[in-house]
Amino acid sequence: MTITFDVTDRPLPSSVSRAARIGDDVTVLLNAHVVDPESGTSGSLSDVWLQAGQISRITPAGSEPGMGSVLDLKGRFVAPGLMDAHVHLAFDGGDDPKGTYQGSSDEQIVAQIVANARIALRAGTTTVRDCGTPRHLLAPMRAALGMASDVATVVHCGAPICRVGGHGHDLGGEVRTRHDVETIIAEQHAAGASWIKLMASGGGFTPGTSPAVFEFDPTLLREAVVIAGSYGMRTAAHAHASSSMAACIEAGVHSLEHASMLGPDEQCAPDRDLLRRAADAGIHIVPTVISADIVSRQLREGHQVLSNPQDRNAVARLESRFTNVTRFLHSGVSIVAGTDAGPAHVTFDLIASELERYVDAGLAAQHALKSATCEAADMLGLEAQVGRIRPGLWADLIVTAADPMQDISTLATPLGVLKRGLLIANKYAQ
Ligand SMILES: [Zn+2]
Repeated sequence: MTITFDVTDRPLPSSVSRAARIGDDVTVLLNAHVVDPESGTSGSLSDVWLQAGQISRITPAGSEPGMGSVLDLKGRFVAPGLMDAHVHLAFDGGDDPKGTYQGSSDEQIVAQIVANARIALRAGTTTVRDCGTPRHLLAPMRAALGMASDVATVVHCGAPICRVGGHGHDLGGEVRTRHDVETIIAEQHAAGASWIKLMASGGGFTPGTSPAVFEFDPTLLREAVVIAGSYGMRTAAHAHASSSMAACIEAGVHSLEHASMLGPDEQCAPDRDLLRRAADAGIHIVPTVISADIVSRQLREGHQVLSNPQDRNAVARLESRFTNVTRFLHSGVSIVAGTDAGPAHVTFDLIASELERYVDAGLAAQHALKSATCEAADMLGLEAQVGRIRPGLWADLIVTAADPMQDISTLATPLGVLKRGLLIANKYAQ
């Protein structure tokens, strides 16, 4: 069977998408420009062969007869599936995510998690890292996600670890002692987490915390990184305060989330030395710009979408995230894309918008694409599975009308998405 794209660059014909090629094991992508974000090339026309969910080989277009199911891309572009390294699947990104979450049963929250992972995949995000979920739901959410083939692959952090009363403490990750840290890390490892999230500063959703303050015992922070490492787990640190970023760099975390560079006066104070130290240590920064855009706009319009009266400078804090991306770029630190999906109106289909903001901030489109593909895979420890189009890697792919390294906006309307070789009906193919 051959599926062809309409020559007018519209998404899959509706008859095809209604038959929902979900479950159709596409075996060859014909006539594709293969986008390689690492080298910056999109090559001459090729045929991409898929087998058992993996990329098996890439041959010059037409050099071998197609067999099995084929998808003729007619010169369109195929790029590695996108990765969103910072989402909160337990929140719905609706009008009142916290209220909805608090009013939902565990079963409803798990159903929401699966729905969000499905939305992400249909938008071209084939992998997400969940950066904070209720502690008792880690195992059930993994089980539910494992039942679905049309959802993004989820890398789990489980419940974030925080001080008593710290940011996100209602998710169940408060620690007082080393024993507490050992217990929660062992438990979350057993339940399937491969990362540990550490709340190194306060945040906009938790009264009683301050984003401008380093809110973690420095000894416990270092111990948490070591204990997580003993299980082969990596660590991500929510860090608005510069003091919290400095402590996390010293402790050896793998990624800094938001990296707002807040001074004790709650003002953003760019710190080149801090960024250079992060770059030298090989630490990645996940900027989460699009959520800051959306949340700050709502705050300016008078909608109380945050819930922490101590977060007095929230709008400026959020708006600095965009300008900070330029600073990250100039420091040479590794930037990995993340949207922070989950808060009010920050939905799970925004990875392309996040990348567009990186380009607005000065990144080349190729660099922005790397931040959501090969560089993200390297950070997540998934470089042997995803992030590049190479034989032996999973066939997690996105099909676009234009070359995303020339026009990043083409990622916002993918013509097709493949997850482990399965063609998923995407949101633009209704
Ligand atoms: Zn977050």
